[in-house]
Amino acid sequence: MRATEPGRIWRRYGMACLLALLASAGRADWLGQHYALSLRPDFARQTLEGEAQIELTQQSPAQAQNSVQLRSPRLDITAARLAGQVLRLRRLDGPEDGWQIDLPAHAAKQSQLSLSIRYRAQAGEGLMFGPEHVYTAFHSCQWLPCAGTDLSRASIQISLELPEGYDSLASGRRMPSLGHAQRWQQDLPYPLYTLGFAAGRFSRVQMDSGVTGQPELAFLGVSDDTETLRAKFAPSAAMLAFFSEKAGIALPQPVYSQLLLPGGAAQEASSYALIGRRMLDPILETPQEDWVIAHEMAHQWWGNLLSCAEWRDFWLNEGITTFMTAAWKRHRWGEAAYQRELGLMHRGMQRARDAGFDRPLSWPGDYPSLSLKRAIHYSKGALFMVALLEHMGEQEFWAGLRHYTQVHAGRSVRAADFQQAMQAQSRRDLAPLFQHWVYENAAGSAPQGKVER
Ligand SMILES: [Zn+2]
Repeated sequence: MRATEPGRIWRRYGMACLLALLASAGRADWLGQHYALSLRPDFARQTLEGEAQIELTQQSPAQAQNSVQLRSPRLDITAARLAGQVLRLRRLDGPEDGWQIDLPAHAAKQSQLSLSIRYRAQAGEGLMFGPEHVYTAFHSCQWLPCAGTDLSRASIQISLELPEGYDSLASGRRMPSLGHAQRWQQDLPYPLYTLGFAAGRFSRVQMDSGVTGQPELAFLGVSDDTETLRAKFAPSAAMLAFFSEKAGIALPQPVYSQLLLPGGAAQEASSYALIGRRMLDPILETPQEDWVIAHEMAHQWWGNLLSCAEWRDFWLNEGITTFMTAAWKRHRWGEAAYQRELGLMHRGMQRARDAGFDRPLSWPGDYPSLSLKRAIHYSKGALFMVALLEHMGEQEFWAGLRHYTQVHAGRSVRAADFQQAMQAQSRRDLAPLFQHWVYENAAGSAPQGKVER
């Protein structure tokens, strides 16, 4: 069944990537660079028992920091050790909530530490359980003891102890199992909010993508058989070819997986995506309804491999991805399909104008609603990409996007990084366009003051 236009707009800009309002806390003094996790999901109790070995580096070496803060207030941390020594830990209240772990004097002067944590996580919006499956969703600090913010980048190893017959999926590449433990490893640092895992009694299809240098494709489902998974994810290989050509860089993992779940999930994670049946099932009747596969796959480059350094530049993740979904539509379905995507972007933008809340893309203030924040970061961000394409022309624009992607792969980015990369490939001065869309109010008036929630 085809959704009505307003319904579709809500599905696309209201449900996809439920991330935009995550708070960005201040910089952690001890920052987690690598997490080695041993996790045991309990499907009956809907809890997760875990041990974490966290490799920390001191961010302000000149000042001894005698405690480590873990921004995970919902975790029940039961023990913290440093080289076998039990450390004092306590819950913090207030805006800096989470846990504080006190370090012995000699450790506070070090530049690196390896901390052992034992903890328990409860089901919640970051850790979702079904009767026979579990998956993490964006809010990493609800299942991972976070030494840093959601945007901090870290590498990870995950070992999952699972019942017989359970399959798994996690950030990075699969390593050989050890007993009942299924193991995954990601060597490149990715933003914490993109790290995750899923496990359950999944059906699975895995195949060569046919795209040179790019990952294999895996389709997993909770309640779909392998034939249905193949049918629903049919456009994946052609999309991978399209996006990888535009990005000009191979994804660093050997497999890109998509897990089809009940409900309305549409979430990117590093090296996989969670996709709800409500989002994807229309594709069986209307093959043009392929946006959710495209959107989440595009995030593997724009959002994951390159990710905004601050939430104010979230449009670099979502605006580029929304535009790339439209570019895919034009490539696969033609000009009319592209124009329809542009129509959706204009409607999103109109929502912000109607509310008197047209803001520059990198506006640093708070938004009065998630809907308005998305109107700017998704719709206006994508319209800015369209404006750049029209201003620069096809050749320069795609060369610029490829340059941006290649130069900043594996890093956190800001608007200025994007501007410099695009400018490097353009004969025209792009500064006025960036000034108009990114830094000033697009309506021409100065941005208004901060709006309190
Ligand atoms: Zn998105």
